[in-house]
Amino acid sequence: KKTEEVNKYLELETARANDMAAQAEMANMAKSQFLANMSHEIRTPMNAIIGFSDLLAEQNLTSEQKEDVDTIRNSAKSLLGLINDILDFSKIEAGKLDIEIIDCSLGNILNSIESMMKPQAEKNLLEFKIIECDGLPAMIHSDPTRLQQCLINLVNNAVKFTKQGHVHIKVLLQDDNGKPFIRFDVVDTGIGIPEDRQDAIFEPFTQVDGSTTRKYGGTGLGLAVTKQLAELLNGEIALTSEVGKGSTFSLTIPAGLDVTKQPLMDRHNLAEILRMEQEESIQTKFSGSCLVAEDVLANQIVIKRMLENAGLDVTIANDGKETVQKAQSTSFDIIFMDIQMPKMNGYQAARALRKAGLNTHIVALTAYAMIGDDKKCLEAGCDDYLPKPIDRKALLKMLNKYLPSTSKDRTCLLEESIDNIKNEVDELCMDISNTNPKSNEEILDWSELLNRIGGNEDFAKDVIDAWFVDNPAYVATLEKAVKAGNSEDILSLAHAIKGSAATISANSLAEAALQLEIAARKGNLENAEMIFDDIKKSFDQLKSFVSQPNWIQIAKKQACHVK
Ligand code: ADP
Repeated sequence: KKTEEVNKYLELETARANDMAAQAEMANMAKSQFLANMSHEIRTPMNAIIGFSDLLAEQNLTSEQKEDVDTIRNSAKSLLGLINDILDFSKIEAGKLDIEIIDCSLGNILNSIESMMKPQAEKNLLEFKIIECDGLPAMIHSDPTRLQQCLINLVNNAVKFTKQGHVHIKVLLQDDNGKPFIRFDVVDTGIGIPEDRQDAIFEPFTQVDGSTTRKYGGTGLGLAVTKQLAELLNGEIALTSEVGKGSTFSLTIPAGLDVTKQPLMDRHNLAEILRMEQEESIQTKFSGSCLVAEDVLANQIVIKRMLENAGLDVTIANDGKETVQKAQSTSFDIIFMDIQMPKMNGYQAARALRKAGLNTHIVALTAYAMIGDDKKCLEAGCDDYLPKPIDRKALLKMLNKYLPSTSKDRTCLLEESIDNIKNEVDELCMDISNTNPKSNEEILDWSELLNRIGGNEDFAKDVIDAWFVDNPAYVATLEKAVKAGNSEDILSLAHAIKGSAATISANSLAEAALQLEIAARKGNLENAEMIFDDIKKSFDQLKSFVSQPNWIQIAKKQACHVK
């Protein structure tokens, strides 16, 4: 009897443990999903900030203005770096980081690190050198992107924590039990790290001491990411350091192939090839037409401007359906296709176009940085893939790859005035601030709306009129999608309604739509109808509110009252 009882108890406990493990697993998945979503939401406005400052920097600016633009650009880039670190860290934790081990040129990797880091080191008056030991192979078998990321993190730190002297990268070939390894020693003559902190700094969010952030900034994530990346590359990181003298971080990774069968690395020969490649890719003028499928206004403006500056005629399509129609009725030289769009997403649109026999080049654009996105794009029939925020150089590279170049005069570049950009930025601000709506119960937050668009009531009214051109149809279609349980449509429509409602400060509507978007992303449609009722209610309230003849007066009064 006793045994029976014990068995029963054990069974129950096992079930409980399994249950807890499943819950933990789900929580972790929810976290990585949340991070992926956040990265999308954050990168989209970042796209606009970086894109516009790149464009501004190309104008005729005074030196003071140039400095200001540089500051915006550098801050935005470092913020993006931070977001990427956080994203990488969470992806690694969730076991979702994409590692792609391929044959790659060691010389190429070292050259690009040198071209990225040398200027920064020299700006800080530090000597920067890559020291190659004998016998290094031309090729290794590893993930070049991640290896570069590790080395850049280490060199960045070395530069940051060194006031004078040098930063060297020493590269050696090592043998461990008959297997070849490449070791990178990042050596600096900086402040050094006390012995009792040398383990801790590899932990996330940890720095040597409390004063580090104040003096040098940073989050303490870099080394945690670097260490985990090194492990994913089947390598390891070691540290020797002495306070006041300097530090050496050693990254050792397997060469991954038979180095005795490899020619020796020759960085300078390679440099010649690279230089030629680069010169070729600096081609910035093209002719031709392109179709851009993109639903977010801010992104439309940025990519349109970049492509027009490159000499192309640009047509915008606001969703997948429109893209398919336009691509079939007009012939374009290239199509840029956002993946997350309302009505019909990028994958579906690309598939439909290929099915209809269209063979125009299609380049996918996506900010939803999850594993497999790139593969999915190619599977759907796209030729290539560009991550968001869109980098001007990467975009030009794509154009180089897919369009015949023209040799137009470089002097006929960019004549638009800063005023033009300013107007567009104003327009853009309206759209960007929709990413983080305040949750308040008001149907329409008039003062928030006016504040955002600069106090012009007529303009605000136009914006609201424009809003009612397509949103009633979205709500109606969403209702059908909810009834049919079509999660893909629910997701894209709720996403679209959320964004546009926030644009006009219809905050309760935006909030309700956000709830549905979240539910759809989780694939949890149990309460979809209930949430849709909230959306419908908010929408109806908004509609009847603005159909009163004197609604602006009422909204104004309400705004005063709230204040
Ligand atoms: P962050 O630089 O963002 O603080 P890291 O994880 O890259 O984060 O580094 C953690 C801490 O380790 C740093 O804050 C610094 O205190 C210390 N550290 C890293 N690299 C060096 C170095 N080369 N010299 C001295 N201290 C370093």
